[in-house]
Amino acid sequence: MTTALIVGGGIAGTATAIALRTVGVSSVICEAYPSGGEDTGAFLTVMHNGMAALHQIEADRAVIDASHPANGVSLLDASGSQLEQRRIDPPGRTLTRAALYRVLQDEAARRGVRIDRGRRLVDATAGDGGVRASFADGSAAQGDLLVGADGLHSVVRGLIDPDAPRPRYTGQHVIYGYATGGRGHTAPDAYHMVCSAAGHSSDTRRRRTVGPGGSPGSTPPN
Ligand SMILES: Cc1cc2nc3c(=O)[nH]c(=O)nc-3n(C[C@H](O)[C@H](O)[C@H](O)COP(=O)(O)OP(=O)(O)OC[C@H]3O[C@@H](n4cnc5c(N)ncnc54)[C@H](O)[C@@H]3O)c2cc1C
Repeated sequence: MTTALIVGGGIAGTATAIALRTVGVSSVICEAYPSGGEDTGAFLTVMHNGMAALHQIEADRAVIDASHPANGVSLLDASGSQLEQRRIDPPGRTLTRAALYRVLQDEAARRGVRIDRGRRLVDATAGDGGVRASFADGSAAQGDLLVGADGLHSVVRGLIDPDAPRPRYTGQHVIYGYATGGRGHTAPDAYHMVCSAAGHSSDTRRRRTVGPGGSPGSTPPN
């Protein structure tokens, strides 16, 4: 059986492993962090196209069970004036990034995908027998193919193309937290985004969201 080494156990890595499994390709996910990323990141809304993709690999049910419906969005300026309001149609699903990680990792593991945590890829070489990956802890792994799902600062991308453009900081900040007992002014299935010029520089923008259930958080503009 063909074996894929998937670098990164995030959203792309786990979804790829589940998809490959459905066509008979086994995978090992090599994830840099030792934990499952229990509270890393803020809220994330999976729009209809993302849910349709998860449906194709029969992983949508688990995401629905862990999320809230996202049926609408309001955009307000710093003074609270509404700039725009629109329905999200078809609706999306809102959950924390950490919850999406957990659900997809659990779903991959349930289908027999091995997730090796604490394995940070540092190098890979291709040969006749496939690909040999080397990790920061000195270990190595062999596979038929290597999938780079290691996020924004992808090591795999650099190995494939050392001249690939690197991500650059755009000057945007994210402030994020949870609160209970909020004022409850928002509809439970909509989120409100407040855009403001803030901080020390004129190009720093902050976007605050109040998600389903009134829990506030901030996300970077997509
Ligand atoms: C706070 C925050 C809020 C966001 N909100 C939204 C939103 O509302 N809507 C939206 O569409 N998008 C949102 N995003 C973006 C979204 O999270 C990313 O687009 C998505 O996570 C990308 O998925 P990915 O699997 O490609 O990468 P990641 O989720 O970044 O996963 C990459 C994984 O690879 C691992 N890794 C990295 N380097 C190595 C290595 N060398 N070896 C092994 N493993 C490695 C990392 O530990 C990580 O687990 C948000 C991002 C953040 C940070």
